[in-house]
Amino acid sequence: MAPGGKEEHWAIRDGVRKLCRDFPDAYWRRLDREEEYPRAFVDALAAAGYLAALIPEEYGGSGLGVTEAGIILEEINRSGGNAAACHAQMYVMGTLLRHASEQQKRRYLPPIARGELRLQAFAVTEPNSGSETTRLETRAERRGDRYVVNGQKIFISRVRQSDLLLLLARTTPYEELEDKTQGLSVFLVDLREVRGKLQVQPLETMMNHHTNVLYFEDVEIPAENLIGKEGRGFRYIIDGWNAERILIASEAIGDGRWFVDRATAYARERVVFGRPIGANQGVQFPIAQAYARIESADLMRFEAAWRFDAGATCGAQANMAKLLASQASWEAANVCLDTHGGYGFARDYDVERKFRETRLYTVAPVSNNLILAFLGHNILGLPRSY
Ligand SMILES: Cc1cc2nc3c(=O)[nH]c(=O)nc-3n(C[C@H](O)[C@H](O)[C@H](O)COP(=O)(O)OP(=O)(O)OC[C@H]3O[C@@H](n4cnc5c(N)ncnc54)[C@H](O)[C@@H]3O)c2cc1C
Repeated sequence: MAPGGKEEHWAIRDGVRKLCRDFPDAYWRRLDREEEYPRAFVDALAAAGYLAALIPEEYGGSGLGVTEAGIILEEINRSGGNAAACHAQMYVMGTLLRHASEQQKRRYLPPIARGELRLQAFAVTEPNSGSETTRLETRAERRGDRYVVNGQKIFISRVRQSDLLLLLARTTPYEELEDKTQGLSVFLVDLREVRGKLQVQPLETMMNHHTNVLYFEDVEIPAENLIGKEGRGFRYIIDGWNAERILIASEAIGDGRWFVDRATAYARERVVFGRPIGANQGVQFPIAQAYARIESADLMRFEAAWRFDAGATCGAQANMAKLLASQASWEAANVCLDTHGGYGFARDYDVERKFRETRLYTVAPVSNNLILAFLGHNILGLPRSY
């Protein structure tokens, strides 16, 4: 198999590349400077059907697998763009497909597939619980045909650029639980109905990411927007983690390839001391090393994606793919910056922008320490640290 997947995947790659050509470096650079959301890009992607990749055909999507969805996100990042603007829907689609009722799927999936409804936000992280999701405190209390939500979420991205938000909230107090993984529930919140009640406070970060602090104060959600069974939400979210990790790995690999491409091109052209800097092993070898690391992470990503789509267990592979790809893209980012010398810091070269963007993958949506803990505890059978 050629690196980058099977032959039919080349049609997807070519299609996404073609679309991305209309959104060159200058487009992303301007948005980054002005902290603007890439609306035109996301609209074009939705119109071409790429955002509906994971939605089954019966609901108007293309019914593709995580393998293909990953290729779409990879190509966006490889083109110099940032798939973070539109990846949420793919990250959470499994939760909806597996646990939403038929009625909920019929109501929401077709307009999402047509690009009329945007599902670009999911709210898990809280200031007090951090990576320890089972400790989250945002409370959803049932009152008749509604749930009333109170609490705070942090780092919740694209809330202003989305119509729907997937929310994880507590429906049973932590102290009352015997099994601490129970008691959390998933809701699909229609943001258009709670605007004005849900306070959204932008949180500036080192990259153009549109993330926010959310304050829920007696925010009402219709009980029919509960996904699956009350109290099972943590399980549902965990079920989606393998897909999420494979998709993040794909984005990181896209970044890594962009860094290697740019470093290689610059190292060939830039002449100092009478020869291209790429002839020096101090420049050439780090690029070659970064390339090898990206390609090996890519093998793990395709192994994980293949297993996921075949319905095989893939926890170890998905976690390793995320770990290796995020490390490889960060290494490639540093190599690319070094190769460019001072120009790596100049905004017009886009290296510093991608450098800031790719740094996130080692930390979010899950920190690499938690990935290593998963491998240590669950795969290697070492004692738990938590
Ligand atoms: C730009 C951005 C966008 C984001 N978007 C979203 C979003 O849309 N929705 C959402 O829900 N969240 C979002 N997040 C949050 C993100 O998922 C969290 O930041 C991440 O999961 C880490 O949680 P934390 O920041 O609370 O770190 P903490 O849990 O406080 O961890 C801090 C450090 O301690 C380490 N650590 C903690 N416990 C252990 C342990 N037992 N063993 C070893 N090391 C440990 C961690 O690895 C990390 O290095 C976003 C974050 C950022 C920065």
